[in-house]
Amino acid sequence: MTSYFHAVTLNKDKCVGCTNCIKHCPTEAIRVKEGKAKIIDERCIDCGECIRICPQHAKMAVTNTLEEIKRFRYPVALPAPTLYGQFKAGTTVDMVIAGLLELGFARVWEVARGAEIVSRVSGEYFREKELPKPVISSACPAVVRLIRVRFPELINNILPVDSPMEAAARMAKMEMEEEGCPLDEVGVFFISPCAAKFTAVKNPIGRRKSFVDGVIAISDIYGPLYGMLEEMKGAPRLQKSTGSGIHWAVSGGEMRLLPKRSSLSVDGLVNVAHVLEDVVMGKLKEVDFIEALACVGGCVGGPLTVENPFMAKTRIVALAKRAGQPVDLLPELPEGTKWQDFTWTENLQPQAVLKLDDDLAEAIRKMEALDEIHKSLPGLDCGSCGAPTCRALAEDIVRGQGNEVDCVFKLREKVAELAERMVALSSKLPPSMNEKKQKEGKQ
Ligand code: SF4
Ligand code: SF4
Repeated sequence: MTSYFHAVTLNKDKCVGCTNCIKHCPTEAIRVKEGKAKIIDERCIDCGECIRICPQHAKMAVTNTLEEIKRFRYPVALPAPTLYGQFKAGTTVDMVIAGLLELGFARVWEVARGAEIVSRVSGEYFREKELPKPVISSACPAVVRLIRVRFPELINNILPVDSPMEAAARMAKMEMEEEGCPLDEVGVFFISPCAAKFTAVKNPIGRRKSFVDGVIAISDIYGPLYGMLEEMKGAPRLQKSTGSGIHWAVSGGEMRLLPKRSSLSVDGLVNVAHVLEDVVMGKLKEVDFIEALACVGGCVGGPLTVENPFMAKTRIVALAKRAGQPVDLLPELPEGTKWQDFTWTENLQPQAVLKLDDDLAEAIRKMEALDEIHKSLPGLDCGSCGAPTCRALAEDIVRGQGNEVDCVFKLREKVAELAERMVALSSKLPPSMNEKKQKEGKQ
């Protein structure tokens, strides 16, 4: 049992049990049982890969609706920089911000500015503190969760600094309070490219409580916003972010702002997992910093976006250039804050759910049993058993969550064996009749 909140859920009625999603889940967190997908909570990292892949749209992200901003007297929008790249060429950041205000938000606080803060704080952290190398970015919650679940030995490598979303939310609340708005009437809503951010709001990373009150999917706000952009032409200068913050929407945007270091940027969860495996094996000793993002191309490839990620990336790069100052130039921290304000207050705990047993001897025994069962399976990784690979089924069997005959080939073998035994048995007679038959045969 886990009390961990997941933003990715299944609509059972829509699921037809096609097994597409089990093959694409990077943590093997999905099984198909009795014709329906089932998400294994402990393994799910809310990356949203299954949302992208499901042909029936049976996988969904739980987020807030635009209607819910009405619960607050002062709703504040925190647009992820990714939002800026979703609209056709000619759409400016000012137009998007003006559109959000028109939709009912009292204030817009750009997450691109939160990214600028985080870049500055990260620079200070590197100067002042020691962390095991390579240091791994904490900006993508799906990657942080992947490390907790699959690479717990790397937890101390994670940079303990708030995400741009949290930094922006904190600043938005601080400003609203300074202006005399009671904080219980201020509702801060992140406009998100992914489900993982909603999960991170419900299960805060490095903090007891998130500064964010709600998360609205870019795909949900896109329509209403698009409908009014035409009228926003000629909006006054509302943008406060610089190109450096906007650039965070694409892979490499964070890395380029760090003080001169040997850095590596990787995107797409499969690639991220390979890089982390290399870190565990000690192969990346010369790297100081790893920017790791779950989505291909960075947040522009998030599962709750609308636009083709490559097109969105082109627009982000253009908007960053147009922002009016070199994209590598970072603004100072906001007045009244210090870099330590944006660092974690809580330690991250590992969630090594992939361990076979807490007891080492038992874990070794189970691993040997797993290997034996795996060898006995056909090795086709066809997915008909409802597990993504033959090895995953072997693991399920060892954990007591699967059966050898879930494999159709094994089932066929067993049926054939049974049939042979039935035939053999059918020719046998009870001993009493057997003797009579023998006598009849002699006459
Ligand atoms: S992809 Fe997964 S959730 Fe979607 S229909 Fe197929 S089995 Fe069900
Ligand atoms: S890369 Fe960005 S959009 Fe994708 S899961 Fe991570 S934070 Fe979300």
